[in-house]
Amino acid sequence: MSEYRGTEPTPPAAPAPADGPPFADCVLCQEPTEYPESYKGITLCPVCEWREAERTACSG
Ligand SMILES: [Zn+2]
Repeated sequence: MSEYRGTEPTPPAAPAPADGPPFADCVLCQEPTEYPESYKGITLCPVCEWREAERTACSG
């Protein structure tokens, strides 16, 4: 089986999707989170959220 890959059209770099409500920034790294700005409480991005969860899981 020989698959020849010739001139494949490279897709243009798509800009970040800007749909949905304005998201709150992560309180730790200032990255946009999945929480809306109206979210009450600590907003963490998925990465920091995961780290926090692992940290609390490790303690104890
Ligand atoms: Zn973060």
